[in-house]
Amino acid sequence: MTGFTPMMQQYLSIKADYKDCFLFFRLGDFYEMFFDDAVVASRELEITLTGKNAGAEERIPMCGVPYHSAENYIKNLVEKGYKVAICEQVEDPKTAKGVVKREVVQLITPGTVMDGTMLQEKENNYLASISHFSEGDFVIVYNDLSTGENSVATLTSWNGVLSELFNRPIKEIVVSSDLNESYQTDLQERLLVTLSYQEDTTIQEEFHHLVEHLSEENLIQAFGRMLQYLQITQKRSLDHLKPVQIIELAQFMSLDMYSKRNLELTETIMRKGKHGSLLWVLDKTVTAMGARMLKKWLERPLLTKQLIEKRLNLVDGFLQQFFEREEIRDVLKSIYDLERLAGRVAFGNVNARDLNQLKISIGKIPELKALLQKFSDEQVRSLGKHINPMDGLYELLDKSLVEDPPITIKEGGLIKDGFNETLDKYRYASRNGKQWIAELEKKEKESTNIKSLKIGYNKVFGYYIEVTRANLHLLPEGKYERKQTLTNAERFITPELKEKESLILEAEEKSVDLEYQLFIELREQVKGFIPTLQALAERVSEVDVLQGFATVSEANDYKRPTFTNKREVKIIEGRHPVVEKVMKSDSFVPNNVEMDPDKDILLITGPNMSGKSTYMRQLALTAIMAQIGCFVPCKSALLPVFDQIFTRIGAADDLVSGQSTFMVEMLEAKHAITNATENSLILLDEIGRGTSTYDGMALAQAIIEYLHEQVHAKTLFSTHYHELTSLDQTLNKLKNIHVRAEEYEGRVVFLHQIKDGAADESYGIHVAKLAELPSSLIDRATVILKQLEGKQDNTKQSNLNEGKHDDQQLSFFVRENNKEKKQKQEVKESPVIQDLKQLNILELTPMEAMNHLYQLHKKANES
Ligand code: ADP
Ligand code: MG
Repeated sequence: MTGFTPMMQQYLSIKADYKDCFLFFRLGDFYEMFFDDAVVASRELEITLTGKNAGAEERIPMCGVPYHSAENYIKNLVEKGYKVAICEQVEDPKTAKGVVKREVVQLITPGTVMDGTMLQEKENNYLASISHFSEGDFVIVYNDLSTGENSVATLTSWNGVLSELFNRPIKEIVVSSDLNESYQTDLQERLLVTLSYQEDTTIQEEFHHLVEHLSEENLIQAFGRMLQYLQITQKRSLDHLKPVQIIELAQFMSLDMYSKRNLELTETIMRKGKHGSLLWVLDKTVTAMGARMLKKWLERPLLTKQLIEKRLNLVDGFLQQFFEREEIRDVLKSIYDLERLAGRVAFGNVNARDLNQLKISIGKIPELKALLQKFSDEQVRSLGKHINPMDGLYELLDKSLVEDPPITIKEGGLIKDGFNETLDKYRYASRNGKQWIAELEKKEKESTNIKSLKIGYNKVFGYYIEVTRANLHLLPEGKYERKQTLTNAERFITPELKEKESLILEAEEKSVDLEYQLFIELREQVKGFIPTLQALAERVSEVDVLQGFATVSEANDYKRPTFTNKREVKIIEGRHPVVEKVMKSDSFVPNNVEMDPDKDILLITGPNMSGKSTYMRQLALTAIMAQIGCFVPCKSALLPVFDQIFTRIGAADDLVSGQSTFMVEMLEAKHAITNATENSLILLDEIGRGTSTYDGMALAQAIIEYLHEQVHAKTLFSTHYHELTSLDQTLNKLKNIHVRAEEYEGRVVFLHQIKDGAADESYGIHVAKLAELPSSLIDRATVILKQLEGKQDNTKQSNLNEGKHDDQQLSFFVRENNKEKKQKQEVKESPVIQDLKQLNILELTPMEAMNHLYQLHKKANES
């Protein structure tokens, strides 16, 4: 460091503690960055990179942003996943000896932003931490700094950790630096999060109440890591933190990361937005807190029938009384975000307007309670009974704050008359003085006989008497002292006026100071209400979500689901909640889903675009809606409580992903097969599509057989391999269904109707026609198809079950892919086929299957 100026040395010593942050170093009216920080920031923020003479031989890179517009730059960096350390001057430069003392006063990181402009109103902003105690013992801690929410979950595998984290849009994760490196890479590359490191896990005395109900040492330690990190980054009051909640993952339906993505619960795969997701359809909440709670419910459907029924009862109750419900929605509109307000109160950055909003919101609570009492449903009424109206806080705010306070808290005008005696006295003095001045003006007018004489005030000269030039001669000599000359008037003062002026100004100054004091005291007092306020926020959010369920259920004609303990599904005239909403007219075709206790697998065939995928997702979404306590889109629904849902949605629907689609397909399938229980729901949509026909079909069949024999989960399996439909002859828990389509004047007409039995045609050429491939190509394909079908008629029935691959399957292959035609001609003598025949598919692990496939593929390409 030698050679650098003292200030640069100060910079370097602070920077040493904040290596992974941009250090915003306050210099006068700017935040400056130096060295690499400057190089990277100038690029990321598109600001000019300059240099500075810092004492060393060469100039060092530097760039800076004005402090008053720093917010946008910080936001920009944090949104890109960076951290920013704000380093301020902490002593007055005028009195400082030597270099002004500087300290980092706050760290702004992706997971800990508090600023309203960086937060999404309807979304929680979670920071997570992971602690790894021993093999198979992980603890995740979540914190939302803006709401004070804390929770912990225990997981037994790293995959479980990833799936769990995938639940929430997490931007930053706090870990210990000795967390396994491959895990760290996973987090950075698969979840794209910013990693932060924190080793210390001690919990100070003042925070003991947050963990006193936890018995497991690991949970406490894991939370300690999070808490330490929060303290280090925030360096301010964290009074709003709520006691740590344990998330018992076993009490919620488990949805792995693939399903969450594939089912588009909270965002769509393609656009990454809420529009088009299930959340988009279901969100009829009025408040931002309600919206956040709904999202949480959707992330964790329930498993306990009793809890589900409780929610359904409440929805039912709300559904019965339209007018009262509408009134409730109305009241909710004037309730602000109590949860985040509470957070900002703790942080100490609320102004009088915020507190006024708080007052208005609390003022609405008695009305909300009264409305809930109007419901004939006892459970709805009891919701209301449990709401604490917080009269005390209301009264406090009501008697202290004026109705329409200014944003700034340093210029007075915040506190009501009558709240504080001293303040009243000052105000009286100042108002009185002003009254006195008004009277003086009248008196002077009379005594001088100058009608235009007036008394005015400005900041430089204070109070003055102004007389126009034309009237100057009317003023008596001696009494008035000239102060200022204007073009056509003169301004005077008198000792009497000055004396009153100083009284008024003093009173005003004192009253502004006192108001500030009082406001800060008020803010501290409000802090004492934070826990009650948070509880209130929770109750209100709950009412909001439930009324929202009732509202959406009524609007879309959803029906209350019934649950069965038998493994049985019976949905009559079910609909896809999202597809029916995005379709222009009422053209969605409802379908039944019927799986008796002894039927586990529905094998779905039908042409492309007929509605197979829609039908499958429809069941999963219906089950999820039912288990979060909402009504469901159908005439009636009988469902088991599913413990887990697994999905593998068609390769064609996959878009961006680092891995090959087929690898993803296999990973998803493996995940489902190895984790599902007989109480799970599995959707496998056109599995095997991502590879060539033979191994695709082989794998598809093997998977079906495995599910049928080993897993017993309720499974919907759609396929374009018609050959698989004959499986119903050997697998008694499998049932064929198909989506009906009809040919009409050479075109295919999709009826989107599900019928029992297998589809008889693949309609591939018709879809190609719809896609407007050249008509000569379509004609040629039709001719080839005819030839092949002609051949097929001459051969015997296919028998895939025994692993035979005869000519008759060709019709199908050609429709799939012209390239494979070549492959087929070599079928008989191909070593690939010989290998395939020898495979004992039932005995293969998915990984072995992959390896075999790879070999087969290689051979096929060589031959
Ligand atoms: P597949 O998986 O069979 O190729 P999809 O499920 O992707 O077909 O459905 C294709 C399109 O058909 C959907 O985008 C939707 O617009 C329409 N569709 C699907 N099911 C229905 C239905 N039940 N009623 C009306 N339209 C439907
Ligand atoms: Mg599909």
